[in-house]
Amino acid sequence: MSTGDSSPLRLAVTGAAGRMGREVLDAAVDREDVVVVLAVNRSETEPIAGVAIDPAAEFADRLGDADPDAVVDFTGPASTLEYADACAEADVALVTGTTGFSEDGLATLRETASSVPLLKAANFSRGIAALRRAVREAVTALPGYDIEVTETHHNGKRDAPSGTAHTILEDIEDVRSDLSPADRVHGREGDAPRESAEIGVHARRAGDIIGEHEVLLADNHETVELTHRSGDRGVFAAGALDAAVWLAGRDAGWYTFDDVIDES
Ligand code: NAD
Repeated sequence: MSTGDSSPLRLAVTGAAGRMGREVLDAAVDREDVVVVLAVNRSETEPIAGVAIDPAAEFADRLGDADPDAVVDFTGPASTLEYADACAEADVALVTGTTGFSEDGLATLRETASSVPLLKAANFSRGIAALRRAVREAVTALPGYDIEVTETHHNGKRDAPSGTAHTILEDIEDVRSDLSPADRVHGREGDAPRESAEIGVHARRAGDIIGEHEVLLADNHETVELTHRSGDRGVFAAGALDAAVWLAGRDAGWYTFDDVIDES
């Protein structure tokens, strides 16, 4: 594993032919601080951004020869856990943007972080990091206000609500001690009046929308709406690559995108 000198980061990319994998490869080949040494995908694929794509089944075997400093992974929870195992075995740092883990899956990932540096973020956008900080501040300043969280994504997204919405909900519950995950109400139907200790959660799926998150706070004859809209997946790819450059060479442990932002 690299110890953080000025040579380019040796990068491996998983899920390389996915929506995010392609963005990561496109962004990586344009950067001077990163060189792609391995890219894999579950299904066979033509080169992307001039990078050859290997079968995912060969990932663990290829790690030794490719000798990456870090892996950037945007796949699915089951695949990410397999890649995390391979990273732990080969002593390679892992940055994962995959969402939708079960509690057990998250616990397994945290175990991996005891042997290699592992950075997990449900969202690699700096704007979302700013939104989260603004939400915490608004929730603190508006005690007891009704809160509704709405996210909107493209019609191919699998998990709902989004990983980012989960993170925002955790932030809200952290600030509001009267609210817990048990108070989340996912959509409403029929005779469903709102309780005061409730957070409404709404997941919309439509077209090719990249990602929108809105937090509505209302009470006292006023409303506050905090909204973030992603205009291009390249934002997430750039953030994930920044995270990989930042992570490689660090001590084993669990890191978040906030750690990257706080130090850069
Ligand atoms: P996608 O379906 O377009 O791509 C997933 C890719 O992973 C596909 O190419 C698929 O073939 C591949 N894949 C799945 N299992 C694999 C395996 N075992 N080996 C190799 N490749 C495998 O999905 P996407 O839109 O790119 O999103 C991927 C993940 O990233 C999702 O969990 C999504 O929620 C998350 N995401 C996170 C962020 C963020 O900023 N953290 C941003 C966008 C998407």
